Amino acid sequence: MADNVNSLPFFYGNITREDAEDYLRQMGSINGLYLLRQSRNYLGGFALSVLHSGRCYHYTIERQPDQTYAIAGGKSHRSPQDVIDYHSQEPDGLVCLLKKPCNRPKNMQPKVGAFEDLKEKLIREYVKQTWNLQGAALEQAIISQRPQLEKLIATTAHQKMPWFHGMITREDSEPRLQSGSRANGKFLIRQRDQNGSYALCLLHEGQVMHYRIDRDSAGKLSIPDGKKFDTLWQLVEHYSYKPDGLLRVLTDPCARPGGDTASLGPPLLPHDHPGFSSVVSHSSRQKNSDNLNPYEIRPPNGQAGKEAMPMDTEVYESPYADPDELRSSTVDREHLMLEDGELGSGNFGTVIRGIYTMRKTKKQVAVKILKNDDNNQSVREEMLREANVMQQLDNPYIVRMIGICEAENLMLVMELAELGPLHKFLQKNKQTSIKNITELVHQVSMGMKYLEEHNFVHRDLAARNVLLVTQHYAKISDFGLSKAVAEDQNYYKAKAHGKWPVKWYAPECINYFKFSSKSDVWSFGVLMWEAYSYGQKPYKGMKGNDVMQMIESGQRMDAPMNCPPEMYDLMRTCWTYKADERPGFSVVEPRLREYYYDISQ
Ligand code: AMP
Repeated sequence: MADNVNSLPFFYGNITREDAEDYLRQMGSINGLYLLRQSRNYLGGFALSVLHSGRCYHYTIERQPDQTYAIAGGKSHRSPQDVIDYHSQEPDGLVCLLKKPCNRPKNMQPKVGAFEDLKEKLIREYVKQTWNLQGAALEQAIISQRPQLEKLIATTAHQKMPWFHGMITREDSEPRLQSGSRANGKFLIRQRDQNGSYALCLLHEGQVMHYRIDRDSAGKLSIPDGKKFDTLWQLVEHYSYKPDGLLRVLTDPCARPGGDTASLGPPLLPHDHPGFSSVVSHSSRQKNSDNLNPYEIRPPNGQAGKEAMPMDTEVYESPYADPDELRSSTVDREHLMLEDGELGSGNFGTVIRGIYTMRKTKKQVAVKILKNDDNNQSVREEMLREANVMQQLDNPYIVRMIGICEAENLMLVMELAELGPLHKFLQKNKQTSIKNITELVHQVSMGMKYLEEHNFVHRDLAARNVLLVTQHYAKISDFGLSKAVAEDQNYYKAKAHGKWPVKWYAPECINYFKFSSKSDVWSFGVLMWEAYSYGQKPYKGMKGNDVMQMIESGQRMDAPMNCPPEMYDLMRTCWTYKADERPGFSVVEPRLREYYYDISQ
């Protein structure tokens, strides 16, 4: 889809309109010759340049909120390529049919815009500063939330630019432009108010010209009667290569006094995140939100920061990530308060809510309580085994154990994942988007990749064992059947058949009692099927034996209704019969990631 445009030979990347015209003309005067380039004013949009009767015509292909692409007022399509295919058959408002692609010269790659280069650095810095993350937690945050972070960065990146001077008055801006070099075209941008209105201040023949930049109801920025842009940096990029109504082009950015972004205070704070104030209670993170700076600009409404990200919640990092908290595998009963309200139950007993008082904070927790009866020695052992596995795991997409508490009952204290099991959530929330489901399933694959890397097999991976912290944050739970496997052998051999979730099990589990990360991948395929079918039961109405026969005969479940073909294809790959030929999570996770980024652009 849109992510793949780079592989289209007629996609030129971030080139200007004039460059596009040059490329088209160099190919001769062919009517319907066309090329595709990145939009320089709309985030995620494209521009189509077409040659007809010696003239070039340019059409913006906007990305719609529903992830489709359309030329303004035209039909929607799944990708820019589909827009082009359509207009090769139907002019539908275009000056002519698209006849021939104008391919890039040999060895030329699509041009990367100035912002693309900066983006990576900005994202990293943003995550580091906003959530105080580092190391693996930082990397995982970026991988799982890249589309959201990119949007946030794109709409706040101007704060990092030397030409952005924050909220200063018109009178204050003039001496800044008049001091030092007084080159024509020297410029700065100041913020006029908190509603997203700015001013572009430009030095022209020794005088400072002020152009208002207003935001329209759709959030687009423009100088009066000028071209519209999604972001300030795109506006600056545009007027730096052509005046387009200004007295002259922008040349030298007037650097903010005090030099770097330090003068703006902590940059890029997302205090517009609803989740930021309501979900976060982590003391070190709170510091940032108290420290709001006067220059800060909120991301425009509707563009960023609408949903809480996993990092906004208190269970993104281990409670023991804070060095001031004592790491212990036991929880003191005095520090644990049990609340009314059951979260769930099983044959071991019940899971209820609680509050755990730590040194610095109080945490909401889920407490698995072993029921008191004399015959449950084996259940007790199972629970201790589960605790033992959980204790060795520390990943944002896995429910962490906080500790074991031996008191009136044996209790396993865990992080709370308030929204409960994935399949039930989806059964009740049928409006959940495919993008949202893909985000969650991708997070599960990240947690599973971690397990695979640490030589653990889960053995009970299913939608019922994925718990949601928020609608956008999933964690793998229930390690009752999990095992550590030897690195060299990489599988666990069960001694005998047990009470097994057969419909989730790979053939080698049932035929040879062999469990590996590869058999977890098979289960993951079933989990994906459950997710995209909004919590339906897999192999509905079938008995375990019939399912086994169906698999042996080479048949697999059909795609859930409206399931994206890319995702059904991945499920089928997870259901590769031979474990050796089945991909591991190191392959499955990037495939999901790619698809998720693609539909989230
Ligand atoms: P389990 O036997 O571990 O699958 O737990 C049974 C049920 O208790 C689950 O299906 C959830 O509804 C609930 N539950 C278990 N662990 C948690 C948790 N950490 N946070 C919230 N609910 C939980």
